[in-house]
Amino acid sequence: MVKAPELLAPAGDLFRMKYAIAYGADAVYAGQPAFSLRSRENGFKNLDDLAEGVSYVHGKGKKFYLTSNVIPRNTKVEPFQKALLAALELKPDALIVADPGFVGWLRKVSSQTEVHLSVQANTTNYLTASFWRELGVRRIILSRELRLSEILEIKERNPDLELEVFVHGAVCMAMSGRCMLSNWVTHRDANQGACDNSCRMPYRLYANDGPQCADYREHQGDFFLQRTDRPELAPVALDEDTWGTYFMSSRDLCALDVVPELVAGGLDSFKIEGRTRSVYYLSQVVRAYRMAIDASVRALESGTPPEVPQESRRAMGFVDGRGFMPGFLRGPLPQNYESTHVAAESGCVCAQILDYDPANGSCRVNVKNAFSLGDELELMTPQGMVPCSVERLEDFRGGVAERLHPGTEGCVVLSGGAFTSCENLSLESAKFGFFVKRTTQKS
Ligand code: SF4
Repeated sequence: MVKAPELLAPAGDLFRMKYAIAYGADAVYAGQPAFSLRSRENGFKNLDDLAEGVSYVHGKGKKFYLTSNVIPRNTKVEPFQKALLAALELKPDALIVADPGFVGWLRKVSSQTEVHLSVQANTTNYLTASFWRELGVRRIILSRELRLSEILEIKERNPDLELEVFVHGAVCMAMSGRCMLSNWVTHRDANQGACDNSCRMPYRLYANDGPQCADYREHQGDFFLQRTDRPELAPVALDEDTWGTYFMSSRDLCALDVVPELVAGGLDSFKIEGRTRSVYYLSQVVRAYRMAIDASVRALESGTPPEVPQESRRAMGFVDGRGFMPGFLRGPLPQNYESTHVAAESGCVCAQILDYDPANGSCRVNVKNAFSLGDELELMTPQGMVPCSVERLEDFRGGVAERLHPGTEGCVVLSGGAFTSCENLSLESAKFGFFVKRTTQKS
């Protein structure tokens, strides 16, 4: 029997959390606004929200981890302790903590509480992992800067310690949050949860060869940087497109191809980053990894070579990003700072289902991207993705429409013939559905 790793998804708010669970996450993580590294855009505003989240997730037989991973200064110690004691009453399945002082304190005040060591603690070797295990840490979220071989060795040398690896999402251009870029550019401290993602933002180059400081002019043509002390090094191009330069913006991590090896290596939890991403993005990404993990487990159990399902790859083709890379898992230089925005390859979401009436196959939808009668659509639900044909579109007034426009509500009536392919669609599943428009096929 092969142990299936946990699929751990971000929960930016209660709404997103429900989609993550519906699409196959085994566990979610959510933060206390003031004490996790997502102080902005955090939908869990108070203890009541967290209590509702814990209760919902436990009701589905899944796990809820509370992220409490700021690196507190003196003035934050007491408020943080108070907040943690209150949060413990909600009985989350674990606390994700980064600060060693707080790990020690939690072991004393609540020895039963499962502690997971945050990625912010930058665990990069087996000796450090053993150190934390001896202090009572149940799980370590490994540094994102590790190669696959290093991860497997840490597991081999610490078989009884749970190890969590990031498999998907945005990454820092510095060592997982140990970065002052945001503090420098916008005075927002990354280690207090206030990073403004300075490394991922566009910049525009200006030259100044006038007599005044204010004599800036926009730089024209190519621009290169070279170290003056190392003239033998090739100049580094600062590419600039119409949107500016994204010199510091890393591609996004996508470890789909590494899933079979991580499953075979006995890793315990696969983590997806992105508490602020849309429910559509979250649903596709969770779906992709759910299928990849399940396929790997099945293959290992049957002794066949594990492969990433084509449908997992296809799901990735339906989401936008900065371009994907396997991170440091496959080698030392994974990042490509020239990449800016890469649009979804296979298609886009056109509508999110709000209500579904199985009696006549009609769905009330929130339109995300314009689509027309006659477009090739697929219905995506937690049960899978099936082609569907649309009989009728209705606009928000209930009138027959040829085309629905973003930002409005409308109604999609599926035609009977195509609808038979999703005849087993449950109401519960349809509630989390999307209509997706195919463009090109990803090979
Ligand atoms: S600025 Fe970029 S590298 Fe620095 S903490 Fe924020 S996301 Fe990470």
